[in-house]
Amino acid sequence: MKISFLGAARTVTGSCFYIETDRYRFIVDCGLFQGGKEQDALNDEPFAFNPGELDFALLTHAHIDHSGRIPKLYVDGFKGTIYATKATTELAAIMLPDSGHIQEFENEWVNRKRERAGLPPVKPIYTQQDAENCMEHFESVRYFEEVQINDQIRVRFNDAGHILGSSILELWVKEDDKEVKVVFTGDIGNNNMPILRDPTIIESADYLITESTYGNRTHMNVENKVERFVEIIISTMKKGGNIIIPSFAVGRTQEILYEIFKHREEYGDRLTQLMEIPVYVDSPLATSATMVFRNNLDCYDEEARSYIANGSNPLDFPGLHFTKTADESKALNASEGSKIIISASGMCDAGRIKHHLKHNLWRKDSSVVFVGYQAAGTLGRRLVDGAKKVRIFGEEITVESRIEMIEGFSGHADRDGILSWISKFSIKPRRIFLVHGEDEAIESFAGLIEENLNIETCIPGQGESFIVNEKGVFAAAGWKDARAATVVPYDYKRLQVVAMLDKIRDELEEASSILRDDLKKEKKDIEIEEMMKKLSKFERDLVELIR
Ligand SMILES: [Zn+2]
Repeated sequence: MKISFLGAARTVTGSCFYIETDRYRFIVDCGLFQGGKEQDALNDEPFAFNPGELDFALLTHAHIDHSGRIPKLYVDGFKGTIYATKATTELAAIMLPDSGHIQEFENEWVNRKRERAGLPPVKPIYTQQDAENCMEHFESVRYFEEVQINDQIRVRFNDAGHILGSSILELWVKEDDKEVKVVFTGDIGNNNMPILRDPTIIESADYLITESTYGNRTHMNVENKVERFVEIIISTMKKGGNIIIPSFAVGRTQEILYEIFKHREEYGDRLTQLMEIPVYVDSPLATSATMVFRNNLDCYDEEARSYIANGSNPLDFPGLHFTKTADESKALNASEGSKIIISASGMCDAGRIKHHLKHNLWRKDSSVVFVGYQAAGTLGRRLVDGAKKVRIFGEEITVESRIEMIEGFSGHADRDGILSWISKFSIKPRRIFLVHGEDEAIESFAGLIEENLNIETCIPGQGESFIVNEKGVFAAAGWKDARAATVVPYDYKRLQVVAMLDKIRDELEEASSILRDDLKKEKKDIEIEEMMKKLSKFERDLVELIR
């Protein structure tokens, strides 16, 4: 079979592997590229394969960087089935339409800008409706059961312990009576995560394709986290303030609820107060995702199951409320008494959380607890960095509340975690392909694998293809099949050049509109002179390039 690495190659987003056998074509994952203009531009590009010719698709988990381009697959002509676990399907049914909504919203903004520049409008990558429509093509499969997809291909979804429904795929492909087994880790979680099971140990593989997000890092010890969390809640309650937790919708919110539930059990006797504090989940997406968690109890680990067996559901305890309407959300800020409010977005740049911050940041008795990474430039990051004043809805607010950052559980296993997981294969893979990691992490991890496990590694570049069979791994150029004449890397590189040219065009348009608008002559003449010199050089280079 031939595997082409079309995303998450030397980067962490846009996961997509295109696989061709002598009879079938399919993909594993189809994620959105994220993180900046350049990555975003890749989402608009046509696929490097023809979606209409795909026989089926496999999805490891619901995160948008693995699933977010699935609706586009259908818009572009795919008609096949997507196989995923039941929990992944249910989470995708929430997350993909939400992503469609965001695409439409961002597209509107782009079109307003284009209109001003006299350009025709463009379509969003896909709409909320497109995303809703594509859900009909999902087929839920059970964990740990082999699924015979067709006469040549079998697959088994194993628990990856990363988010609810996440899977490590075992894939068997039989060509010319010879079977080759490839394992895809998807994103692989940590051992001992709240709610989730540990990643499944896989017995054997001919070839392994593993993520390497934390390939050069080990996670910090998180034991004190529980104590700190409880201390913040109790001391804030004593002062009569609120505890505001900005949180992402899927995974993190449910982990927090689980932690709160667990602490109630542990501290309940000593601190009846803690039992009384109401917890509000104030985010429609987080509420829907929590319902999916409640709906998939069979995915839980033993500890969470034992709670359920004893009659209590960690995601459904007395005092837990879900607010739906905007009015209910507003009412939270008008009501008396301490409460915990979990609300999105996790980085505070949008959503209902902004209202809660507006009403609590100025209060000395309230606390804001961050539990996830805060990207540069976000309101969350400014608060974590110690801003004394922030602007919310045009109003300047003095920060008087307690601001805390508790590093949450990471969804990804660290360097030692993946290494130890690989070391448990009883039949070792002949070659390990490293994906889903930044250059530094991935290269250091490759070295570590070779040194510690004595397995050959390969770091594929974006768009690179390899033949893997019972004899070994070969660069795609060696592929004898006639269909392999469509060499993916060069198609892809062409698309990249097109994207680069588009980007240059956009930048130039923007620069010229700035200059055209510069009627007040804010730019100095000398700057304009300088710009002209640089542009002449650019023009010469461009003419050369086009030639
Ligand atoms: Zn993920």
